[in-house]
Amino acid sequence: MIRKVLIANRGEIAIRISQTLREMGIQAVAAFTEPDKDALHTRMAAETRAIVSYLDAEEIVRTAKDCGADAIHPGYGFLSESPAFSAACEQAGIVFIGPRPDTIRAMGDKLASKRTMEKAGVPVVPSWDNDPRSSDFPVLVKAVGGGGGRGIRLVESAAELMDAMASASREAAAAFGDDRIFVEKYILQPRHIEFQILGDSHGNAIHVFERECSIQRRHQKIIEETPSPAMTPELRAQMGEAAVAAARAVDYRGAGTVEFILDPSGRFYFLEMNTRLQVEHPITEMTTGLDLVREQMLIAAGGKLSYNQSDLRQIGHSIECRIYAEEAEEHFRPSTGAIEIFEPPIGPGIRLDSGVAAGSKVTYHFDPMLAKLIVWAPSRSAAIARMERALDDFVLLGVRNNIEFLRRIVSTEDFASGNIDTGFLDRHPDVFIAPFEIPPAALLAASHGLSNTQGHRDVWSSGPWRNSSDASRADVPFRLLDSHHAEISGMRHRFYVLHRRDSDTVWLDGHTYHLYPANKGGAAHAAATPASGEIRALMPGKLLRVEVAPGQAVAEKQAVAVMESMKMETTLHAPNAGRVTGIRRQPGETVEMGEILMVIETNKP
Ligand code: ADP
Repeated sequence: MIRKVLIANRGEIAIRISQTLREMGIQAVAAFTEPDKDALHTRMAAETRAIVSYLDAEEIVRTAKDCGADAIHPGYGFLSESPAFSAACEQAGIVFIGPRPDTIRAMGDKLASKRTMEKAGVPVVPSWDNDPRSSDFPVLVKAVGGGGGRGIRLVESAAELMDAMASASREAAAAFGDDRIFVEKYILQPRHIEFQILGDSHGNAIHVFERECSIQRRHQKIIEETPSPAMTPELRAQMGEAAVAAARAVDYRGAGTVEFILDPSGRFYFLEMNTRLQVEHPITEMTTGLDLVREQMLIAAGGKLSYNQSDLRQIGHSIECRIYAEEAEEHFRPSTGAIEIFEPPIGPGIRLDSGVAAGSKVTYHFDPMLAKLIVWAPSRSAAIARMERALDDFVLLGVRNNIEFLRRIVSTEDFASGNIDTGFLDRHPDVFIAPFEIPPAALLAASHGLSNTQGHRDVWSSGPWRNSSDASRADVPFRLLDSHHAEISGMRHRFYVLHRRDSDTVWLDGHTYHLYPANKGGAAHAAATPASGEIRALMPGKLLRVEVAPGQAVAEKQAVAVMESMKMETTLHAPNAGRVTGIRRQPGETVEMGEILMVIETNKP
């Protein structure tokens, strides 16, 4: 019997797990670190424990013992795929909600896992420990211990291989503490198709259908759906069988995912196995009625699977969009700040798994995923229409985010026809629009919208400031006056007309208004255009490397520095050709957004 569980994770997944635990009558304890002391997952928990780090296995096991928990749920990320952590739990007599240490170890190493799968008769992508022949290109360089798309480099020719291997190895060492890399055949126009699996400790294993996760940026999923539009009943049977064979090969216990890539000819290859709950698990839940966290708990308590393969059915279609605090239009630059207004969509067939609410601070300490918007509808086309509607209704202001970007993706013809693969974004520059400037036409449209509005819609009538009629309250920065759509240069935009007490931007109707394009916070605008010659931090984070020396001549667009923010590396480029005259900050230093890192003096003509 499991009575009390320490959740060793944060954000939306910590909240998601606690919901099921409470429904099962199991006590949940939320662990939180200093930057998360006011985070939503901490505020929502009945019982909390402060910890120093989500990554410290020993501290987490000790915390679980201290609070009388008999199990630990690791969520995803952090310690969920650490064999040492699973073993430490076992040793301490605490149930680890996940697979046995040996399974995690075998699957955590991408090379070793491929060998295991080959032996089990599951097709794998060809790979090399040494240099591939020239005819083998293009190839991918991958981290042996990789995850989350980090440490992956596409290499087109032998000449680029060395550089790519060095940079992948560096990123892998920083991200996973393991610098080993390998080279794998790059499959052209692949779809990413994965199968949810469940295994118990009595030798039973089943799959819970597929998820298509081909819409990716930087090898990381952003939109997922099930069923896959590429699937036929025959292919599903074959791939499902391979997934179950993979699970059996490692005597899998718990919920896991077997990832494949599918080439345009219908051939599929094992990519890796994730020995944990996946970010995109809700779409499986929406179409099957299963609660995967509940299944995890039942399995961890020693129970037998309560379903046979033939008991499972999928009904309708589900799509998930990952809401990130990042600007897709600016090379997916992560964004930080305080969420001022958060009004998620509601209505039939909509689920929101969120780690934030109005007032939440988005910092550079963690991954920029804020929430997951999931829809269900009877058919794929109805699910797309519902997702479009839901994204339109989603009001998130204060932190720049990708809502409008997701909206543009799901509205493309290729997405509608299911014509997707992992290169989708490369082929659709149309979904990236230039950074937004407020054109005069927008002001006109806004003033028009205003004059048509009878009475103003106050955010606090429905939002977090409900019942507060006192507009002078110091903690209410905005008043939402109106929102509407407008077409500008052929693109559809949504505008919010906000009244902000402390700024004077636009003079309309005798009042002071501040106009924000949809789902873009305001603060970042000011720092968006650096003076030529200055290299500024594009976001708060850490300066990793400075690639130039004082006095050095640089070419326009030459890489001059590398920053890290929210676990991602971003390269900064010289805006003009010139000479480096001043280096203001050193590698390893923490920098604020907009801070000048170095100056490049323009060449005199
Ligand atoms: P991670 O563990 O970092 O998520 P994966 O091995 O799962 O890395 O790969 C991430 C993504 O990279 C895949 O979903 C796919 O889009 C792409 N990818 C990985 N391997 C290949 C390959 N051999 N050929 C083409 N694309 C690949």
